[in-house]
Amino acid sequence: MLEIKIIKCLEDNYSYLLKDKKTNLVAVVDPSEFKTVDEEINKNYKKLDFILNTHHHFDHVGGNLQLKTKYNAKVVCSAYDQNKVPGADIKKRDNDYFIFGETKFKVIHVPGHTLDHIVFFSETDKVLFSGDTLFSLGCGRVFEGSYEQMFNSLEKIKELPKSTKIYCGHEYTKNNAKFCTKIDKDNLKLKKRVKDVTNKTNLEEPTIPITLKEEIETNTFLRYDINKIKKTLELDNASKVEVFKKLRILKDQF
Ligand code: ZN
Ligand code: FE
Repeated sequence: MLEIKIIKCLEDNYSYLLKDKKTNLVAVVDPSEFKTVDEEINKNYKKLDFILNTHHHFDHVGGNLQLKTKYNAKVVCSAYDQNKVPGADIKKRDNDYFIFGETKFKVIHVPGHTLDHIVFFSETDKVLFSGDTLFSLGCGRVFEGSYEQMFNSLEKIKELPKSTKIYCGHEYTKNNAKFCTKIDKDNLKLKKRVKDVTNKTNLEEPTIPITLKEEIETNTFLRYDINKIKKTLELDNASKVEVFKKLRILKDQF
C-alpha cells in the first residue's frame, strides 16, 4: 500500500513523497527543489531511498543532487535521451518495472513534451505520476517531440484502468479549465468539474488527484474523438492526431 503526500514547490509545481507502508521505503517524485522537499522529509520520514524523475526539465530535477547526497538516495529515471537527469543511477525503458517495496511501478515511455519523458504507473495502487504529459484538464506543451508522439503518449495513458488516480507535475487546472470550457461548451460534467476546481483553487487546495475516468470525460485533450469537439474546430473529417494538434496549437495561443 502506497502513502502519497503532495508537496507544493516553486510557483505551481508538485513533488510527491511516497512511502511504501509495508517496507517503509521512501521516495520522492520530481523534486523541484531541495529545501521544501527536505523539510518535509525531516518532519515525517527522516530518510529517502529513491528519487523518481519523469523528465529532465529543471523544475522536476532541481532537488536531485542535494537530496541524493544528503540521503544517499538512488535516482530512477528515463533511459531515453541520456545524461540529462542529474545523478541518474537506475535507467528505465518503456514497460520496465520499478519495484518499490510492495508497490510495483510500471514505467511507460511518453515522448512529446520531452523525448525522455516517462510516467510511473502503479498497478497495485492504480496511481499514475504523469509529470508534464497529462495535466488535470490539460496536457504538456510539445517541446521536443512531435504532435504525433504526444498524441500516441496520451493514447497510451488513456488505456490505463479508468479508476487510476492521476498525480501530475503542475497545478494548472484553473487555467486549463478555461480553455476546455471554451472548446467543449455543452459538457455538463466539465461544468460541474469547473465549479469544484474553482472552490478548491479559492481554498488554495490541490485540484488533484483526479481519476482517469473524470479526465476522459472532461479534459479536451483526451477528447479528440468527440464529434462535437471536432465540429467546433471545423475538423469534422480529420484524424484524431490532427484534432489533437489543432487543440494543442490553440492552447499555446490561448
Ligand atoms: Zn517539463
Ligand atoms: Fe514542468
